[in-house]
Amino acid sequence: MESPVPKAAPTVDPAAASSPASRRVNVRKPEVMDLVQQEVEHHYRSLVVEKLRARGGSLTVGDTTLLLAQEFGFCYGVERAIDLAYASRRVFPERRIFLIGEIIHNPEVNRQLVTMGIQSLPWQEMNSQYDDLTPEDVVIVPAFGAPVTFMDKVESKGCSIVDTTCGDVMKVWKRVRGYARDGITSIIHGKAGHEETQATASRALGESGNGHYLLVLTLEDTDFVCNYLRDGGDRSAFYAKFSKACSPGFDPDLHLTRVGVANQTTMLKSETEEIQRRIRQAVIDRDGTDAHFQMFDTICGATQERQDALFGLLKQQLDVLLVVGGYNSSNTTHLVEIGERSLPTYFIRSADCLVSLDEIAHYDLHQRSEITSTPLGLLGDGPRRIGITAGASCPNNLIEAAVLKVFALRGIDPAAVEAA
Ligand code: SF4
Repeated sequence: MESPVPKAAPTVDPAAASSPASRRVNVRKPEVMDLVQQEVEHHYRSLVVEKLRARGGSLTVGDTTLLLAQEFGFCYGVERAIDLAYASRRVFPERRIFLIGEIIHNPEVNRQLVTMGIQSLPWQEMNSQYDDLTPEDVVIVPAFGAPVTFMDKVESKGCSIVDTTCGDVMKVWKRVRGYARDGITSIIHGKAGHEETQATASRALGESGNGHYLLVLTLEDTDFVCNYLRDGGDRSAFYAKFSKACSPGFDPDLHLTRVGVANQTTMLKSETEEIQRRIRQAVIDRDGTDAHFQMFDTICGATQERQDALFGLLKQQLDVLLVVGGYNSSNTTHLVEIGERSLPTYFIRSADCLVSLDEIAHYDLHQRSEITSTPLGLLGDGPRRIGITAGASCPNNLIEAAVLKVFALRGIDPAAVEAA
């Protein structure tokens, strides 16, 4: 049963009140947050996972051992974003509430918001739905933030804005704005198709809008840029490669003179460090000094902790690794990449993917689609050791369902697991 929705008057966020155009509202009220807490726990909490964590993340029943990473699942930024979205519904029970894109990259959480009447607006293009917004509407900004043009549009329509942008994302914005102010081009390690990277790129244009950025995703992209830094190169080849990954008017012969590296908060740390190292070396090779190079590691603490915890888990003997999370979740994808280097690893969105001991549906990062395989490591009569982790946008109830399904497929009743 849902708790009755109390009406509580919103207050203008004091941090935003100085801007006359801003209608940012603070929905974090004690009387609302207590109810939100209960609701969020009801939807996403798992006693099984909490017990598993309390016993060090290891559970053996029969011949099956399940090992959970020390850090997994919801991060502080995601918890805050979900709390604020739920609070918005309670504070504005009769208003239309919109969300720019998805609150986080998890289908289950997004589905819950839809059932609460929170409608998603497109985040890749500003369509007529934005024109139809009115001052009576509430717009939630997701944990990734939103590009400046989207924020300007929503503000111009006079909507009440509930901004759930994670503080760690805002730290990156501060850095790239600083680069723009100093005439430095931001080289952003991130996914061009990711909300956070688009939001960050828009801030890299700076207050004047004259700043520049270049997005790199892979080491191959980086080497292309490094070669251009050292020797110049073929401009048309550069534009062919980066036309959708650079600022308007970007000229590689002008705008790579002074560069500063930043990164999407959820990238693979080792790869980001290598990208920083290669670009710095290219600047030194060109200039004889790194005076025109800056860098700032903006991988967030939660991403780092989950990657470190997985490295810890992989030190143990495992037959297979399951990674639970939304297929479009960046931080979850990197956990899968780490796992794949060591053992059979399956990226699953929910327990439903664990069809049988012969069949698992999972996202293949290389084919970029969900495929079906025989789950190596789960099969067999002998003892099995199964590792499990989850990305920062995965709720504990989904992890619990995966844990119970693994044991069930191995012939162990959920009651025996819960009693263990
Ligand atoms: S993954 Fe990091 S940046 Fe993203 S919401 Fe969580 S804490 Fe914030």
